[in-house]
Amino acid sequence: MTEGKTSHTIPSGSAIWKQIAQEINLCALPGVVNSLSPAEVIPDGSGGLLASWTFGLLTGSQETRITRWSPSGATEYTLPLNGWANPAESLVLGENGTAFATDQSQVLSFDLATGAVRWSWQPAQGPVEMIMATAGNGLVAKNRDETTGLETAVRLDSFGVPTYESWSNPAVQHAVGDLWLGQGSLVGISASEVAWPDSIWPEPDNDGIRGAEPDGIRGAEPKVKLNVFKVAEAGLTDPVITTRVNLGRDFWRKKAGILLDWNGAIAVEPACPSERPQCSVDDDDNILKVSNPAALQEVRRRFSIRQGSYLIFTQSTGSGASGVTLFDSIGPYPQPLRFYNVSVIDSQNLDVVVPHEIGHQFQLQHGPPQPALNLMCGPSGAWGEYLLICTPSADKKLTPDQIQDAKASARAWQ
Ligand SMILES: [Zn+2]
Repeated sequence: MTEGKTSHTIPSGSAIWKQIAQEINLCALPGVVNSLSPAEVIPDGSGGLLASWTFGLLTGSQETRITRWSPSGATEYTLPLNGWANPAESLVLGENGTAFATDQSQVLSFDLATGAVRWSWQPAQGPVEMIMATAGNGLVAKNRDETTGLETAVRLDSFGVPTYESWSNPAVQHAVGDLWLGQGSLVGISASEVAWPDSIWPEPDNDGIRGAEPDGIRGAEPKVKLNVFKVAEAGLTDPVITTRVNLGRDFWRKKAGILLDWNGAIAVEPACPSERPQCSVDDDDNILKVSNPAALQEVRRRFSIRQGSYLIFTQSTGSGASGVTLFDSIGPYPQPLRFYNVSVIDSQNLDVVVPHEIGHQFQLQHGPPQPALNLMCGPSGAWGEYLLICTPSADKKLTPDQIQDAKASARAWQ
């Protein structure tokens, strides 16, 4: 789990605390001694930090405070909590300026710019812990029954309305797609899946839980730089390409926590190579139709870059195919293939193609369980893609093994 920890390192935390402490001292009344206890610090998702701390008054009462440090300065506010749960389990980041906090008796959603509370929720009994923020500013938490010791996962929607899962376990760990883990093994299947949010800190930084997880399955990383091209002669419009690219990015972020970092640019690539600008549409070095191994070889020649992820939109990838990802065959069929970080996508607007080809870039093969419903549905061994035999929708499943393998492989393209 060292990769996850590295990406979550907060630099110069002690300097920040020194600064906060100085500010507090300036504000303190002469002769009055208050106490200051730093707690957790997480990124705010906008280049700043959320620093939690407790301000103890001489009267014995305390305030549960947050200082948000951003490039434009510091903002400070108090949240209606009874202290912090634990120095490393109190805060997670949602989407669009929303964060979540807990003191282990309640959880609340707040605007990280102002501290305004959007909702709070307290279970009927027993302590609550946050598991992860979810897409659309929901939160998954767990609630322990102090009599039985069993934990039950509870989903809070964007309004804080709770829905308990129908099963309990001595140690609910987390959700992976539409599957849940308890004490390191699969214990249940939820009614609907849990989608990762667009957030760089969606889970509590809880080393005890992370250490018990399958290696590499969690954490809002890796982050892979995405590069998008269109073949000039294919006549594709930027809005259509943008929609298709974002569908692929959303899929991998929500289902696996893999971030595809794209600046929105679509570079124009001529069908002919620069050395032969007058090439014919049927020539092997024309990539308007990438329908044979020679044309694939030309794509490889132009895009043999070892970092990031590359999507090249063109007119056609051959009869019956909707997309293709460059690969080497490790051995004779059906030996596994090693894929490259370059996919060619054709002009048919099929939702599943971009997420599927990116799956190949993350070294996923065809042929997992429940193939029609799985993202990697497709034939084995052939170089082309024949997705029409599979469900064309992008609402596809990944297994925990696929998520784990994809995350590990995606790190190679960082
Ligand atoms: Zn495929």
